[in-house]
Amino acid sequence: MITLIHGASHIIGGRLDNPVLDGDSVLIEDGVTSKVGFWSELDSENVDTTIDVKGAVISPGLIDPHTHPVLGDFTPRQNTLGWISSHLNGGVTTLISAGETHWPGRQRTPIGAKSIAMAAAQSSLDLRPGGAKLHGGALLIEPGITSSDFDEMVEAGVHLVGEVGLGSSIDPEKIRGPIEKARSRGWVIPMHVGGASVPGSHVVGSDLVLALKPDVICHANGGPTARPFEEILECILQTEAAIEVVQAGNTLALVKIVEYLNQNGLLARLQFGTDSPSGTGILPLGILRTIAYATAFGGVDPASALCCATGEVAARYHLDVGVIEAGRAADLVILDVPKGGQGTTALDSFARGDIPSVAMVLVDGEILVHPSRVTPPPANAPQISG
Ligand SMILES: [Zn+2]
Repeated sequence: MITLIHGASHIIGGRLDNPVLDGDSVLIEDGVTSKVGFWSELDSENVDTTIDVKGAVISPGLIDPHTHPVLGDFTPRQNTLGWISSHLNGGVTTLISAGETHWPGRQRTPIGAKSIAMAAAQSSLDLRPGGAKLHGGALLIEPGITSSDFDEMVEAGVHLVGEVGLGSSIDPEKIRGPIEKARSRGWVIPMHVGGASVPGSHVVGSDLVLALKPDVICHANGGPTARPFEEILECILQTEAAIEVVQAGNTLALVKIVEYLNQNGLLARLQFGTDSPSGTGILPLGILRTIAYATAFGGVDPASALCCATGEVAARYHLDVGVIEAGRAADLVILDVPKGGQGTTALDSFARGDIPSVAMVLVDGEILVHPSRVTPPPANAPQISG
């Protein structure tokens, strides 16, 4: 099966060292990108399907590294079915669990944490909830989790740690051991930073960040309550961690953080998440909205912001998605100016604070969304032939 997508104004590569690729077309063979370039130069014989995107932007599918799934496409936090499908309609093709925090009856014990991570990982091995790729089953660290617990979890497919700080203890001496066991297996360590999120959760400030040096400072702008900017700055300056901002946080802190990272050449550390489902709700447009905030308020170049939401975050989490490159999965989102919007391209829309239209989403080369049910329609709908 060969698909040719042509007519793009820009193709976003996904990495900050080369945000915009040369070309207007992407050729896909059996779900995998085979060539990127100009239509006139691509061999378009034997193409089964041709898609003219009429000046839209082709981006790698967005990645939401901060989600709290439970099982499949159901969330008990907001009693909602189909939230991941809505995320896919918002351009998100990959979701990463930051911990199954909303699991009903979650036990904050070693066996509780381990068994929830294993069950959630098992259920997302072959399942594509709503059509998206879900990396579920993120261990919420508890004091007392042993090396043999880790061996068992690896066997069950667990490869993620959830937000440190959402377990029973935030005493660095009690949780350092299990964190180091996870780190030695190459697992990324994210930490919940900010005020308490829901009843029963902790306040985590820069003292715990500096004591445990996580790889990702989750919702540096608060989930939903932010710590003072001086404390956030301390975390930025005294660690090398990725700095995440989320839609379900403090908007003023988001702007200050993004501005600081952008002005100081630290965009490679910027990460966007939604933290959904949360008390704020499910946020199908959370990643697109946060990119619009980062560009319109924080001054980030829109193409670079898309890289922060795709290839940069995939590299951080060792995932084989997030870039448009020969040999990689064709997980793509086609973004256009929303109907009635200003500007000439979707990149322009972001810079003006608009949410672009999701005109189409492909996962492994298959068209799953056309057009999105949660964004405005595109100014120019893609035309499919063949
Ligand atoms: Zn959190």
